[in-house]
Amino acid sequence: MLNLVFLGPPGAGKGTQAHRLAQRFAIPQLSTGDILRRAVAEGSPLGKQAKALMDAGKLVPDEVVNAIVDEALARPEARRGFLLDGYPRTVAQATALDEMLARRGRKLDYVVSLDVPVEVLVDRLSGRLTCPKDGSTYHPRTNPPKRPGLCDSDSTPLVQRPDDRPEAVRRRLAEYQNKTALLTDYYKPRGVLRTIEGVGTPEDVEGRIVSALRDNLTAGPANP
Ligand SMILES: [Zn+2]
Repeated sequence: MLNLVFLGPPGAGKGTQAHRLAQRFAIPQLSTGDILRRAVAEGSPLGKQAKALMDAGKLVPDEVVNAIVDEALARPEARRGFLLDGYPRTVAQATALDEMLARRGRKLDYVVSLDVPVEVLVDRLSGRLTCPKDGSTYHPRTNPPKRPGLCDSDSTPLVQRPDDRPEAVRRRLAEYQNKTALLTDYYKPRGVLRTIEGVGTPEDVEGRIVSALRDNLTAGPANP
């Protein structure tokens, strides 16, 4: 059993690493966005509540997000472990998560925090181009479209969203750092936090994460 929380700023490659680790350890990747969308699509009472709020342009409050995560943790596939991505975002949510796990006689094994220098993130994020039609994203250097400035799938001219301009990117990152510092302060004293350097190829970064979790690996996946 491996219970993981995955933290990382936008642009750190968190999605890629979360996916690789979930595959490697055969645990479900519980990404809050996906969990919310699934609850909405299934039309569960919580999903309906979340949808009504989102449709009204409101933030989904902690108690609804917590309850939706709690439901996801109760699914059979999460019994062998999980990788939470995008949750918790606040100390209040982290406390709620601890309570949900304690109720099931479980606890977090690791909190993996991907660390990438701000300038690298600004460089990665601020060049991003988006297709306004299907939302696909490109980067002139790392992931260029086949024809410059045009979406591969529908040839729509690509745009730079205001969010992806350098000043906006810096602001978003500073906000993220402030929030995350509170979370890492919460987890650090418990010895579960593993801060991993996130610069390098996806293979390099994955290798660093796996060595940081080695204790658990050698212990094997079974025996809670
Ligand atoms: Zn497109």
